[in-house]
Amino acid sequence: MSVESGVVIVGAGLAGLRTAEQLREQGFEGSITLLGDEEFAPYDRPPLSKRALKEPDVALPVLLDIHALDALKLDLRLNTRVVGLDPIRHTVTVADGSVISFGVLVIATGARPRLLRGTTPRVGLHTLRTFNDARAIASDIRQHGHIVVIGAGFIGCEVAATAREMGAEVALVEALSTPLSIPVGETIGQEVLRMHREHGVSVYCDSLVTKLVGGEHLEGVELSTGELLPAGAVVVGLGVTPTVDWLGGTDLAMDNGITCDASGHTSIEDVYAVGDVAHWTSAHGYEGRHEHWTSAIDQARVVAANIMGSTDESKTRLLELPYFWSDIYGVKIQALGWPAGRFESMVLHLGPASDKLVVLYSDDDRFVGIVGLSAPRIVMSARSMLQAGIGLDEAASRLTSSA
Ligand SMILES: Cc1cc2nc3c(=O)[nH]c(=O)nc-3n(C[C@H](O)[C@H](O)[C@H](O)COP(=O)(O)OP(=O)(O)OC[C@H]3O[C@@H](n4cnc5c(N)ncnc54)[C@H](O)[C@@H]3O)c2cc1C
Repeated sequence: MSVESGVVIVGAGLAGLRTAEQLREQGFEGSITLLGDEEFAPYDRPPLSKRALKEPDVALPVLLDIHALDALKLDLRLNTRVVGLDPIRHTVTVADGSVISFGVLVIATGARPRLLRGTTPRVGLHTLRTFNDARAIASDIRQHGHIVVIGAGFIGCEVAATAREMGAEVALVEALSTPLSIPVGETIGQEVLRMHREHGVSVYCDSLVTKLVGGEHLEGVELSTGELLPAGAVVVGLGVTPTVDWLGGTDLAMDNGITCDASGHTSIEDVYAVGDVAHWTSAHGYEGRHEHWTSAIDQARVVAANIMGSTDESKTRLLELPYFWSDIYGVKIQALGWPAGRFESMVLHLGPASDKLVVLYSDDDRFVGIVGLSAPRIVMSARSMLQAGIGLDEAASRLTSSA
């Protein structure tokens, strides 16, 4: 099979839509079928924990307006859940039983939030991934005025901050000793903890939720200490798992997501994966699922170049460094490269007058990642140093002298 038989993209989110756009931009004139199981045209998720939560009657934050979407000439099918892949016949099967052939398949099915173990759905218990989730959470915050957020990762911290800005009483429960300690470590975590407390969020670190309290309607959560936190709504922010359940029975290699090389190829010919569902190896040798907005776009561009048969290695391999941002209480947190709580870290000293916090991360003394609070210029100026793989001390001295 070849690309002339058409490209089918499963998942009409950011990564799926950007792959379609990139194919058109790179000159593909054949058929592109974009299959998505949500009722909405492709939309953006970052606003859902920020501005969109605050605005009553917020409009869907679409990724493309209707004219731009039409101009792509896609066969866009919404409310269409794909339930199976047959890599030999080059087909996918939809929930209504229909079968769609592909020359090339791009899997862009994203990820789903983890649930709190042992709980069943009930009124007031939420996770946040979709536009409908955001609307339901916003409505509960307005109705009840008090909320418990379980898990102080990026989504949990953003929801807690936004709910506080909406005037709600907020409790944030985290099993580890600071927020964000796994993705970026305790130095940034301590600062975020301070910000939450300064804004009046009650933060419970080193704390486990043992029980949801109430009947059909939630009344609160109980901690392992026995303390009861009242809540009209609970938002669970315990991370996500890649949406791969529909791929059972195929031989697709998986490793916490669909295993891809630095070109986005999976273990099956003519099948690529992009975005939150995909576990890529980057050209720099680091691998993992990058659940970030910018990575989904970078991967989509690389996959489109490979589908188009480009031979330019600067386009067909993922060379971009992972980048993500988060917004809490008007402070922008930005991360570039591979910061991680498990790596050695060093605070960049920017002088007593500075309100910025910048942390550098090293793997075997090599500078591999940077996180900054309110420090966009410093974070972005580290790009070439990260790409060159210089030592941590040299990076620190260069960044300090240019700050
Ligand atoms: C609330 C929130 C805030 C965020 N904030 C930030 C931020 O500030 N900065 C940042 O860098 N990143 C942020 N992100 C992450 C970023 O939005 C994601 O990395 C990005 O959306 C990933 O795009 P995707 O297309 O891979 O997945 P998704 O956007 O999840 O799209 C996947 C789509 O596939 C559909 N699908 C799944 N299974 C099937 C199936 N079997 N058949 C058909 N369709 C299917 C899903 O319903 C979904 O519509 C945030 C995410 C969320 C949820």
